Amino acid sequence: MGALTSCRVRTVARFNHQKRYRLFDQIRNNLTRPAEQIAADHLASLQNVVTHAYTTTIGYRRLFDQVGFTPSQLQRPEDIQRIPIVTKRDFQTHPQDFQSNIVDPGQCQKKSTSGSTGTPFTFYRDWDYLELGHAGTMRCMAVAGWEPGEALGIIWGYEKEVENSLNRFKQWAKQTYLLNAFKQTETLMSQWADFLLRRRIRYLYGYPSSLHQFAEFLLRCQRSLPLRAVFCTAEKYFDFERKSIERAFACKSFDLYGSSEVQNVAFECTRGRMHIALDFVRLEQEQLRTHEPPSLVVTSLHNSVQPFIRYDLGDFGRVLADRCNCGINTPLMEILGGSKYDFLLTPAGPLHSAVLERIFNKITSIRRYQIIQHALHDYTIRCELEASASDETRRQIEMTAHTVLLEIVRQTPTIQFEYPTAITSGPNGKYRFIYRSPRNPQ
Ligand SMILES: [Zn+2]
Repeated sequence: MGALTSCRVRTVARFNHQKRYRLFDQIRNNLTRPAEQIAADHLASLQNVVTHAYTTTIGYRRLFDQVGFTPSQLQRPEDIQRIPIVTKRDFQTHPQDFQSNIVDPGQCQKKSTSGSTGTPFTFYRDWDYLELGHAGTMRCMAVAGWEPGEALGIIWGYEKEVENSLNRFKQWAKQTYLLNAFKQTETLMSQWADFLLRRRIRYLYGYPSSLHQFAEFLLRCQRSLPLRAVFCTAEKYFDFERKSIERAFACKSFDLYGSSEVQNVAFECTRGRMHIALDFVRLEQEQLRTHEPPSLVVTSLHNSVQPFIRYDLGDFGRVLADRCNCGINTPLMEILGGSKYDFLLTPAGPLHSAVLERIFNKITSIRRYQIIQHALHDYTIRCELEASASDETRRQIEMTAHTVLLEIVRQTPTIQFEYPTAITSGPNGKYRFIYRSPRNPQ
């Protein structure tokens, strides 16, 4: 990779008013500094964000007051445990209470999330946080040897066309090439392999399930596509996926852990351990329910418009006591169990089920939802609604579901709608938002 390419991508970013490369330069060596320096900066950031949340949001002020906590009492990071835990449900029920009243949400990115938790809610991210998030991802990739300007392929779900020639030109300027997981057919995967080889793209980033599907395809066809590293994010990364991915791409893969609400929580190092990004988050484990593994509770040290303080991420995991000698001086964690996106069967082959999120993302008053695919065109959709939901809400859900599924499965689907008062979690305590279940299993 030449210095010219690096210079080009940095110039393109500056032209687009993006600070990500500058921020990357600033944070690149943050976590290889002595542990005491990292800890001191971590505490200062924690004090800042807790003070900001208390003084500029109604929701956190109310929560802190309930337990008699004031930001000045935060003298050590552990003191944060006096603050009650917030959940997705709190953000869903009182969205504005947890927004800062000194930052204009109109100047921020509005984001809807539902993902594998099936609890949709809307939140905001300020532009600096988004840019810092990109810088954080770049830092994780740099651990694996990637340098700014090196070409990266991203397998992600896109509603829009991303693989036409105009988009490819723009992607060339940024050295970031998008591959659409929502259209991941065998024909397309064959084209991806040709494209990645032709462009000499040596790094891939995406959903582990989609990368695994791609890897299995290459192994089946006995096609060689050696890369330098693969980065997996947004879903639990299973060992069986890792085995196929590392074999198909003949390189090490790296797990990056975060969520759209709180990015860059932890990342995998060259020794295969997950390091907590102490300059982005404080991570704790909490035993929230008996008979369940510990839950991961996170405090984001950034995002002024929408603070997340002691937020239940909805994942199980542990903060570990042992250390890693790779040179990154932060504590380790591990993710336990975990939910997984299932694949939707379509006439064009299996599709990443995140494609269905758009049925629900724009409809408020859905607490939780679940989609069961019985056969190619046969579904049950279950929605747990707010008490305030009207017949119009139900009509809107049913109409959107028909439209989206018709487009995907290319034949009028049969959908049975159910509106239970509560959708419960599965036997492992985790909730699956889509799964396949034949009506008459053999
Ligand atoms: Zn390490």
